[in-house]
Amino acid sequence: MPIQSSTILGRVMGTVGGIEGRKDFSLEAIPQRTVKRPAETTGIALHTGNRVTMRFLPAPPDHGIVFVRCDHPEGASIPACVDHVVGVNRGTTLRNGTASVHTVEHVLAALSAFGITNVRVELTASEPPIGDGSSAPYLELLEQAGVEDQPGTVPILVIEEPVYYEHRGTNMIILPGPKLMQVSCTIAFPTPALPGQYLSLDVTAHSFARELARARTFCLYEELEPLMRAGLIQGGSLDNAVVIRDGAIFSREGLRYPDEFVRHKILDIVGDLALLQQPIQGHIIAIKPGHAANVELARRIKAAAKRWTRSPIDGTRRHNMAGLERGAAVS
Ligand SMILES: [Zn+2]
Repeated sequence: MPIQSSTILGRVMGTVGGIEGRKDFSLEAIPQRTVKRPAETTGIALHTGNRVTMRFLPAPPDHGIVFVRCDHPEGASIPACVDHVVGVNRGTTLRNGTASVHTVEHVLAALSAFGITNVRVELTASEPPIGDGSSAPYLELLEQAGVEDQPGTVPILVIEEPVYYEHRGTNMIILPGPKLMQVSCTIAFPTPALPGQYLSLDVTAHSFARELARARTFCLYEELEPLMRAGLIQGGSLDNAVVIRDGAIFSREGLRYPDEFVRHKILDIVGDLALLQQPIQGHIIAIKPGHAANVELARRIKAAAKRWTRSPIDGTRRHNMAGLERGAAVS
């Protein structure tokens, strides 16, 4: 069923109305935040086509965002951390021990945009329900769950020097900047029938709900066909993706935004960079991004951040806007 953005925006923003205060860049840290009460949703798993239930459960301070495979013999927990990424092919896969979880990025995008730092995400299968291929269903779930701030804070990861990644025409760079998360993204298609798309925006809870959350995943038919033949995306359909074939766009309900594709790419960046487990102050410039590039940028930021501070997440990070304003790299 099509989801009405204005309804979701109103309801979710009503739930977490105070979050926009986090755009104050004099902040050094944000409050820890969890969901108020359990909430669950059931839907189709993209890979297997089976039904899967996902539950958001409150978690204590310093717990982090953790996926829990309830169908796994040991009920395995998988932290949403870049160190646990084992796959980046058409989605981001995390693993801990023998348990893995696929396609986490749309859930993580919604959680991080709304400032959730601690939540137990229980799953009855190896992936969240794909929903409509966007983050909108997970915002609905957050609305059911409610959110609440907790004791303690998470320090802001302040980008102190450019971090860069380039591979086969994909370029990712994050620059120091005064805003909590600004993303400028350009995408191109391998068909002249579709023009490239560009969008730059500050990612806040409000802009995420209004500008990004409803943007659906998309794929080229040529990429899809072998996956379908191999039985790898049994839950895939025009209900959860927009398909491009020979320059034409196939979608159950028409495009939700004229530039829906670049919006979805930014949504994916927000989800993949949530694996750093901290809000980021800096400006991301992405040209033809994908999960592999997003995750590699996250890894490089994490490695660089070790030079910048004593510990990336020890709560003692000093705020260094003064250094940034001077254009200096603070060591
Ligand atoms: Zn995506």
